[in-house]
Order: sequence, then structure tokens, then C-alpha cells
Amino acid sequence: MTTLIPVLGDQLSHALSSLAGQDKKTCVILMAELDEETAYVPHHKSKMAFILSAMRHHADDLRSAGWTVDYVKLTDPENSGSFTGELARALERHSASAICVTEAGEWRVKAMLDSWADRFDVPVEIRADDRFLCDHAEFESWAKDRKQLRMEYFYRDMRRKSKLLMDGDAPAGGQWNFDAENRKPAKRDLAMPQPLHFAPDDITQDVIHMVEAKFATNMGQTAKFGFAVTRADALKQQAYFLKHALPPFGDYQDAMLTDEPFLWHSILSPYLNTGLLDPLELCRAVEAQYQAGKVPINAAEGFIRQVIGWREYVRGIYWHAGPQYVESNALGAERPLPEFYWTGKTDMHCLSQTVDQTIAYSYAHHIQRLMITGNFALLAGINPVDVHRWYLAVYADAYEWVELPNSLGMSQFADGGMLASKPYAASGAYINRMSDYCSSCRYDVKQKTGPKACPFNALYWEFIARNEDRLRKNPRMAMPYKNWDRMAETDKVALRRQAQQFLETLG
Ligand SMILES: Cc1cc2nc3c(=O)[nH]c(=O)nc-3n(C[C@H](O)[C@H](O)[C@H](O)COP(=O)(O)OP(=O)(O)OC[C@H]3O[C@@H](n4cnc5c(N)ncnc54)[C@H](O)[C@@H]3O)c2cc1C
Ligand code: SF4
Repeated sequence: MTTLIPVLGDQLSHALSSLAGQDKKTCVILMAELDEETAYVPHHKSKMAFILSAMRHHADDLRSAGWTVDYVKLTDPENSGSFTGELARALERHSASAICVTEAGEWRVKAMLDSWADRFDVPVEIRADDRFLCDHAEFESWAKDRKQLRMEYFYRDMRRKSKLLMDGDAPAGGQWNFDAENRKPAKRDLAMPQPLHFAPDDITQDVIHMVEAKFATNMGQTAKFGFAVTRADALKQQAYFLKHALPPFGDYQDAMLTDEPFLWHSILSPYLNTGLLDPLELCRAVEAQYQAGKVPINAAEGFIRQVIGWREYVRGIYWHAGPQYVESNALGAERPLPEFYWTGKTDMHCLSQTVDQTIAYSYAHHIQRLMITGNFALLAGINPVDVHRWYLAVYADAYEWVELPNSLGMSQFADGGMLASKPYAASGAYINRMSDYCSSCRYDVKQKTGPKACPFNALYWEFIARNEDRLRKNPRMAMPYKNWDRMAETDKVALRRQAQQFLETLG
């Protein structure tokens, strides 16, 4: 009696629910590198190298822990390319009599897992993924009967549930949210920690060679590959972050600086999302730093909010919204994604900085994703599916459950406000306030029209004008529409013409 336990590429946790309580002697874990996973979007080379290498290392770790692991490589000539195909082959190989799997992280894979019971002649058990604080039923019961879903109220419930940063029933420090203290621009003279660089070992080098050969035309460089690919190394990055970057994390969370891709961010999302790190364990370690007086409350609270607030909330929204969420296009945006999103070749310095570091590291921090690449796509009216597929392809931490609500909902407002109460639209002034990008740009952030004018300025007003019917009634958009109404007609015409001329250059 053998139970086959398929372990997917984002299920690299020793405490995975499908492994719990199993008898190692009668189970075979199946792991497979698959064409269907490497091809559904053109993934960044480093993203693929990271996930495949982490999978191979995890298989070794599981073997060391006494499990039998059947591992199918991408280059195996018999590899069918799909998990269902590999499961069929493995059932035969091992004469397995049962399948036990942890639930999928996204709709596409859920449909595949759900089809197994009909397809195979053995019982299929699908277990809940307990690596999240909030399960599907709990989110549904929280969302039910609410007119508006807002992260802040969900987050407070998660604080109460986890007891993180709580003084009895009250939030530590007397406030739930210290975001008002977290919007400082950074200065270049501040000492900046660089994330740990993990030199590729033999396994990672093999994977990198394979990826470079098989996916030569995909975006991305692997020359600077330095991700951790084991839990042990991911824990080192966690410890490094807690010590060196967490204390000022809150203050400079929204800051951007030229040639500084990482600032005080944790660079832990790839490890959280594959399962190498545990989110609650990480948050407890952050809380311990605060309790030991080593980090201020705005840093500890700000970080914990990202993980038990935003991360859990976007997952809840993803499943709540259903598989058709991806088709939302509330602002009717139809322009194709400009080529420079793949090459970084643009005179707009903020965009070239963000895309160039994405090419080099498969990483950009939140404000770059939201207020540079996301904001530009929003203002320019880029088709949200194109935007979504780009984010899904280029970041090492990108899985649809977390990427889609962030890109389509938060950054493109394509869900009409299900996730965010207003569009994150901003002119060049915001970028100038939060970064030093404008000082070395060929455009002038202070100019609104003319050949040197920063494109974000006219595009911003074009966005406001173009979407008037859809956005004017939103109370949080009252100020921009008040300013638009105050503007002279000639200025409005000049701004819209400037924006149109620029949009024509995008092709
Ligand atoms: C358009 C867009 C697309 C995004 N796509 C992804 C994605 O594919 N995968 C992903 O993990 N995050 C995504 N995010 C959220 C966020 O940008 C990344 O989690 C963060 O930049 C990862 O870097 P870090 O680990 O250094 O984060 P830090 O700034 O150190 O934050 C700590 C942790 O908080 C969590 N977190 C922070 N913000 C969010 C958020 N909005 N949603 C979910 N988790 C959050 C992450 O797990 C992150 O590791 C996206 C944001 C935007 C605006
Ligand atoms: S001037 Fe405009 S385009 Fe140039 S960096 Fe600043 S915001 Fe970006």
C-alpha cells in the first residue's frame, strides 16, 4: 500500500499538510519539473533557476529526513510535461494505491488537482494549506455581508488572532497602524545593508546552465544570481534582515534610490512564497526584536502588517474573487505593454532603473512595482492582462494568488475598487519626493508640457480626464477632480495633447 504525495514547486515546506502524520515507509513523494509550469508565462531566468534549484535542494533535504522522493527533471526524456502526466507515470511505477496532496495555490492548478479524482482509479485526498493564518472559510465569513472589503479591518482581526504585537486586547504602542511615520525619502549617505549573496553551488549552477540553454530568449540575467535555495540559507537572510535592515525598515519603506535595488527591504518574499520560510515564525521573530528593544514599533508593526495583513488579505481576495477576476478591466484599458518593460530601454530614468534591476535580480521592491511600473501602466492605459502577465513573469516571488490582486487590483484598479479604495495614480511630483531618480533623468519633473516635460505629469491629468465618468464619484478622488475643475481650459487641452503625443510614441 503506497501513498503518492505530489509536492508542487511552491510547497517546499517540511511541515506541509500532505506530509503530516504520514508513514515515511509507505509513502513516495513525487516532485517534477514541468514544461506546463515553465511555459505558462515567459518567466525570468533567475525566477526559474531559483524555483528549480530550491526544488532539487528540497528533494535532497526530504531524503535526508527519511522520505523516499521520486524526482523528475525537466530534461528527463520521458517527462510528459504535465503534473497529471507525471502522476499517471508515477502511480504505475510505484503501484500506488492512494494520492495525498496539499491544495493548490491558484485556480489553474486547483482545476488540475480537482480533476485527479475522476482521472485516476485511486482515492485522492486534498488537504488544506495551513501555511496561512486565514483559511478560505474564515476569509469568506469575514467578507460576507461587508459592503466594502478593506485590508485595515482584516489586518486588525489577524493581529487579534495571532496575538502579534498585542497588549491584551489593545495594539502594542497604542495604535494599530504606524504608516504615517513610514513615508520618509532616503538619503544616499545612510549606510545601506545589502542582502546576503549565496554563491550558486553545483546544483544551482547545473540549473542555471539548463535554464540559460533552454530559455535563452526569456528576460533576465543569471550572472548576479544570489538567492538562497535552501531553508537553512533562507533563515540566514531572515536573521540578517532582522539585525541589519529591520530597524529602519518602517521609515524608508516607500523610498527609492538610484542603483540601490534593495534598500531596507527584507528580500524574503521568494522564500515565503515557496515555503522555505514560515510567515508566522518570521513575524514572531520580528515581534521578539521589538520586545527586546532592538527595533522601533513603526518598523515592527509596518513589517508585520505586510505579512499578516497584506499578504493574507490579497490571498483572501484572490480566492474570494474567483477565476474570472483575471478578466476584470474596470477602466477599459486596452493599450499593449510597451517593449521597454522587457528591455529597460527608455529615457524615463525611474522606469529604466526599475526594469534594469528587475532584469538583473528578478526583484523590485513594493513602491517600485506600485508607483513606477504599475503607476505608468495605469496612467498610460495598458491592458491589465498584459500588466498581470508581465508581473507574473518577471519577479522571483510571483505566483498568481499574490501577484494578480496586487497587479490587477492594487496597481491597475482593474477590479473597480474591490481591493483598493482608489487608484494609485501619481504624477512625477510623487516620484521626485520619494526618490532621487528625477535628478538624473533627461526629462524635467517640474515641467508639464513641452519636449522636456516629465511624461508622468501630462499622463496623470490625461488619466484623470479619461476616467472622469468612472472615478469622479469616488470620494477619495475628490481632490484631483477639484484641481482639474480649477484648471483653465487651454491648460487642459495642452496637457491632453502632450499626453496623446507621448502615448503615440509607445506604439
Ligand atoms: C504590482 C505588484 C505586484 C506584486 N507582485 C507580487 C508577487 O508576485 N509576489 C509577492 O510576494 N508580492 C508581490 N507584490 C507585493 C510586494 O511588492 C512584494 O511582496 C515585495 O516587494 C517583496 O519584496 P520583499 O520581500 O523585500 O518585501 P518587504 O518590503 O520586505 O515586505 C515584507 C513581506 O511582506 C509581504 N508583502 C508586502 N507587501 C505585500 C503585498 N502587497 N502583497 C503580498 N505580500 C506583501 C511579502 O511577503 C514581503 O516579503 C506585488 C506588489 C505590486 C504593487
Ligand atoms: S522626471 Fe519623470 S520620467 Fe524622469 S525620473 Fe522623474 S518621474 Fe521619472
